[in-house]
Amino acid sequence: MNAEQQIRQLREELREHNYNYYVLDNPTISDYDFDIKLKQLQTLETAHPEYYDANSPSLRVGGEVTKNFETIAHTYRMYSLDNSYSKEDLEDWEKRIKKMVDGAVQYTCELKYDGASMSLTYENGKLVRAVTRGDGFKGDNVTTNVKTIKSVPLQLQGDYPSKFEIRGEIVLPWEGFNAMNEERVATGEEPYRNPRNTASGSLKLQDSSETAKRPLECLLYSIKGERLGIATQFENLEKARSWGFKVPSIAKLANSIDEVLEFVNYWDIHRHDLPYETDGVVVKVNDLQQQEELGYTAKAPRWAMAYKFKAEQVSTVLHEITYQVGRTGAITPVANLEPVALAGTIVKRASLHNADQIAKLDIREGDTVYVEKGGEIIPKIMGVVPDKHRPSSTPTQYIDVCPECATPLTRTEGEAQHYCPNAEGCPPQIIGRIQHFISRKAMDIEGLGGETVALLVENGLITNYADLYTLTIEQVIPLERMAQKSAENMIHGIAASKDIPFERVLFALGIRYVGETVAKKLAKYTKHIDALIGASEEELIAIDEIGERIAQSVVSFFTSEKKILIIKRLKDYGVQLKISEEQLANQTNVLQGNAFVVSGVFEKVSRAELKKMIEDNGGKVSSSISAKTSFVVAGDKMGPSKRTKAEGLGVPIITEDDFLEMIG
Ligand code: AMP
Ligand code: ZN
Repeated sequence: MNAEQQIRQLREELREHNYNYYVLDNPTISDYDFDIKLKQLQTLETAHPEYYDANSPSLRVGGEVTKNFETIAHTYRMYSLDNSYSKEDLEDWEKRIKKMVDGAVQYTCELKYDGASMSLTYENGKLVRAVTRGDGFKGDNVTTNVKTIKSVPLQLQGDYPSKFEIRGEIVLPWEGFNAMNEERVATGEEPYRNPRNTASGSLKLQDSSETAKRPLECLLYSIKGERLGIATQFENLEKARSWGFKVPSIAKLANSIDEVLEFVNYWDIHRHDLPYETDGVVVKVNDLQQQEELGYTAKAPRWAMAYKFKAEQVSTVLHEITYQVGRTGAITPVANLEPVALAGTIVKRASLHNADQIAKLDIREGDTVYVEKGGEIIPKIMGVVPDKHRPSSTPTQYIDVCPECATPLTRTEGEAQHYCPNAEGCPPQIIGRIQHFISRKAMDIEGLGGETVALLVENGLITNYADLYTLTIEQVIPLERMAQKSAENMIHGIAASKDIPFERVLFALGIRYVGETVAKKLAKYTKHIDALIGASEEELIAIDEIGERIAQSVVSFFTSEKKILIIKRLKDYGVQLKISEEQLANQTNVLQGNAFVVSGVFEKVSRAELKKMIEDNGGKVSSSISAKTSFVVAGDKMGPSKRTKAEGLGVPIITEDDFLEMIG
């Protein structure tokens, strides 16, 4: 096979695997094998630029940067939808339809996905353009970013027409949204409010490799074009699915408004089990001929209607507004409510977001307010029940000093949030930083929990994380609920954390935007805290995956003399502030290109150590045996089914000793 044929074959294989994984949710190869094929393709493409293809699966990782998104006119206008909220609304709609068309009317019922609308253009089976809805007449060309969304096919399959547009919604499923938020909170950033805004924000990122990291999905619902030979909306969905698009199979045909309502009522309850957010149902006249007869109003098709689910909302009394100070000093106003049942839970507190929000809604203590649980995780206050201001109340005065340390608050131009700037002296900030330091993914200190950290700070025993290493058993025994045994455990746990590897110490320091993965990268490339402290922004940006924002944050963190002093103390106490000699010496590439599966119990090293050794030496650890597994390292009590599988596939099974010999 020549290079061109190889490239073609790899592209086709990868396209197929992408489709199986992201559209069908049914992968047929391991992530590892996928990566290997992708690398092969990238290598070949680099060596043979003459076979460049803008739709190669290798471009899914992004990298292209767009400064200004070009405006593009839509060939077919992107309309809004009319909304309905009740059975009566739908019945009125049906009456209007029946006046305009003859014969029976069938309806397709689909979910209304809550994300960003998108119009994709395909020519000869290839994606050529992706445009946002914009004002409906013209939108932004976000093709480079959309190409990174794995469920958007770059190359179609089946009997697709040579040219058409397809409409859909880009959504961010809950799982990915929550994971992104966890990572943000861990790096001291405000969590995103809801998946919809995050999805549309993701499409307008300038660096497409950033978009590539976001677990977005594209769900399709309508095809536009000339002479497509499609007669109904339901067929629209089926065709799109057969060409390789992700089309949820939830849609149903209904023969009457009563049947539509059955669908609506079912999903009003079950929508909470969906992997993504939906805010209603879209009902469409199924027959495209009838759709054409019905046409459009100035704003929306007459043949479609959105039925909006009611956000679950209750009213209750707002007793008090309190203010929380986060680890980064961000102030969050909290509404303390008369407890009330809402969407299956008892709600006592709700978010008020910020000062502007409180002023805009004129929310005052003692008011009766509406609380809603919509597409957001934390319930929020929607407004004051009309005429339910507490008599004689006055507008809420937002605090201007920190509730914890009385320092005047600051607010950056253009930011909604107030901050307490007293990072070194404000108790919740001090406590929050130490709590982050000891947390499981950071120093993982056994015998010490978040509440004890607060006690230690409140009792003046520590003011920063370096102080932890000076604590003695005698000092901590007098604390509440602290017995001899627990004191010993705690001091022992702190001492043991001196063995935690550099990369996790780096994460534990709590540098803004430096999450676990970034910390690993920085540790691997700089190898030593002094090298990191001395690194300039340019040097940091040169590291793979480190952007300007992270680089700035790192540099600014180390300009603080206090922080340098704390780090020096950590070093003196024996905390790992460089890659260990062992780690350095043990890092080789001898296992490069080999995939290992580890199974059973070992004598000389633990399973975790074994896995680490594989990775340190350039190998890859996978969890299940496949034809692509290079070796199975088998210990005592290896599972019989694994053994059979390995033998069946002819994968060599090696012992712990064999392995140790392999890496010398
Ligand atoms: P609205 O923005 O409230 O006028 O609603 C119209 C938008 O709903 C469209 O622009 C689509 O982006 C979105 N939408 C979500 N799901 C669907 C669907 N199944 N069919 C049609 N439109 C949908
Ligand atoms: Zn403060």
